[in-house]
Amino acid sequence: MPIHEKSLIRPENLVTHENLEIDGVNVSGHWSTFIESRAVTDYNEAMEEEIGALPGGEFIHRCWQCGSCTNSCTVNAINPDFNPRYWIYLTRLGMESELLRDKDIIWQCVSCNKCTYACPRDVNPEGVMKALSHWLELKGHTPTSPSMHFDEEFAEQVFDTGRIEEGRIIRGFFARTGQPLLQDWLVEMGKRLLRHLPLKMLAVMGLGSVIRPRTRGWAGARAAIAQYVTERRAADRRALGLGGERK
Ligand code: SF4
Ligand code: SF4
Repeated sequence: MPIHEKSLIRPENLVTHENLEIDGVNVSGHWSTFIESRAVTDYNEAMEEEIGALPGGEFIHRCWQCGSCTNSCTVNAINPDFNPRYWIYLTRLGMESELLRDKDIIWQCVSCNKCTYACPRDVNPEGVMKALSHWLELKGHTPTSPSMHFDEEFAEQVFDTGRIEEGRIIRGFFARTGQPLLQDWLVEMGKRLLRHLPLKMLAVMGLGSVIRPRTRGWAGARAAIAQYVTERRAADRRALGLGGERK
């Protein structure tokens, strides 16, 4: 299926003739805008299969390019370059080098799932975005993204205690990503919480961030989850033809 959006054609691939006359008709400027022909020789024919093998990417083959995901996308509304439909298109064609041009924004999906609810084909575009980010990291195209750091901090806390505590997650996330703890938005959120939340709830939250409460009898579940995660990571690496363990 062809790409219709002019915005998706890289400026360097557009050519405009300032002075051009064809059969006596002046078609200078905007009227003579052409797309440069190009030869693509580096298809990754396994790309759809690789994304389909990662969690979230299983149904990418169902996409019929209707664009509902991009139309409903929260991030696309503020950054038109964030385009799930287009990336699914590139993945299915195996146009890896084209996709890599957007590698620094693909991870910005905020997992709101609006695309997933809009998709008429149950592709789970949010899952595909996650699979694409994961694929980029596993293949070494991008460093661990902030969203992956957050997921890992969240998951490790659940493995460890069987619970989550928001204050510790934020602290851990900032530590992993080298951010200062005192940030304007966080201070403002703290002030509002103090103003609006009941004292008892604030006390429970404060205690939770200090004493690390644990779920009773969690050891068995932790072992089962750890085994699953190990197996899943190994399967992901096998699907992408990578050896060894993730660092
Ligand atoms: S889940 Fe991600 S891709 Fe889907 S609408 Fe939200 S931000 Fe966009
Ligand atoms: S909404 Fe679904 S079918 Fe339509 S382009 Fe997006 S992923 Fe494909």
